[in-house]
Amino acid sequence: MARQRSSELFAQARQFIPGGVNSPARSWGAVGGTPIFLARGQGSRIWDADGNEYIDFVGSWGPLILGHSHPQVLSRIKETLDSGTSFGAPTEIETQLAREVVRAYPSIDLVRFVSSGTEAAMSALRLSRAFTGRDKIIKFSGGYHGHADALLVKAGSGAASHGTPDSAGVTSSFAQDTLVAEYNDLESVEAYLRAHPRKIAAVIVEPVAGNMGVIPPRPGFLEGLRDMTSKNETLLIFDEVITGFRVAYGGAQELYNVAPDLTCLGKIIGGGLPVGAYGGRRDIMEVVSPLGPMYQAGTLSGNPVTVAAGLATLELLRGPDTYAKLEAKGLSLTQSLEDAFAEVDVPVRVNRVGSMLTLFFTDQEEIAGWESVSRCDAQAYASFFHRLLDIGIYFPPSPFESAFVSLAHTSEDLEVTRESVHKAALAVKAG
Ligand SMILES: *Cc1c(COP(=O)(O)O)cnc(C)c1O
Repeated sequence: MARQRSSELFAQARQFIPGGVNSPARSWGAVGGTPIFLARGQGSRIWDADGNEYIDFVGSWGPLILGHSHPQVLSRIKETLDSGTSFGAPTEIETQLAREVVRAYPSIDLVRFVSSGTEAAMSALRLSRAFTGRDKIIKFSGGYHGHADALLVKAGSGAASHGTPDSAGVTSSFAQDTLVAEYNDLESVEAYLRAHPRKIAAVIVEPVAGNMGVIPPRPGFLEGLRDMTSKNETLLIFDEVITGFRVAYGGAQELYNVAPDLTCLGKIIGGGLPVGAYGGRRDIMEVVSPLGPMYQAGTLSGNPVTVAAGLATLELLRGPDTYAKLEAKGLSLTQSLEDAFAEVDVPVRVNRVGSMLTLFFTDQEEIAGWESVSRCDAQAYASFFHRLLDIGIYFPPSPFESAFVSLAHTSEDLEVTRESVHKAALAVKAG
């Protein structure tokens, strides 16, 4: 497969952009090689700058649950564009999207839109500190909540791929109020709550971890967090930037039936355009400016084009059997991966919740948190990734990321993928 044009474009990009990319995971640091430059996407397919076609299981890292260039999403965007791109003043459709979020998430009474998941998590933290008057927060090792300073501590995929789990430039005064617990380990949370009574403003968690590879919560983990935080008057923040509208229309909180105090959203609600949102209980959200003293603002927040894409996406997700279809497609891909590696006798484990999944190269019984993730064979994943790419399947260019199946993946796509995965597994085995 010729990728000459991508190589040339990458060389040019590196002259003007750090590392040639605007987000580190795109540089393929974790799998090696030269990143492909993408030119076009349609449904489940993408085309690179050399015209090579791939079945895409990245979906722009989560937003594209309908696949690329869905005609109804594009037409809503174009319609909205004809009336202007931004006003920095209220528009009617922002309320429509807010109403839909509030309807779908019973834990959310009020919601504020921002322009990225990073902003959503950063703002939710500031709000939890403003509301509780406390300084410290607990996050989980391998949990990613965007690149706000206080959250760039043991932050999973992007940073881990580049060997710097803690970013340079994050001062110790920022990091010292961030306590890092182990995912799926309630005792590690309890220990901090005991050690710092009435000092912890919030626990922030991806209810299904998605940024150290997919890790489902063990039974009782989310319920345990809910109990502990309630007892300590600490807020529980679910970062559902990936899982919101992905694992169920009402997110992981619907799937596992645990209600957080605050929720972060992003990715899918922007229909492929830049977005984030945070929302929650009315008494907490009323601390947000202009109602309360916690300041947070954004020139392009609630941008009409983004909101239109989000509304169109959610409308389509409310169609018949959406989540049953995603479950079936996710299961099909999982079985292909498991079958292929069982056949060549290479030990793997696939973690999956609905349409998000990760293939781990490991003989461990369970991948439950960062410690077990870090013991998986990243080299084997890199080899698998490149073999698949060469036969036209685009998987995440990192062993620590989720693959995403979309509604656009047809049974034919999944059949082609099954055959390709078998070929790639044979090649991995051959070394
Ligand atoms: C992607 C992601 C973010 C950050 O969102 P951006 O829009 O990239 O800033 C935050 N939290 C989680 C769980 C994410 O997956």
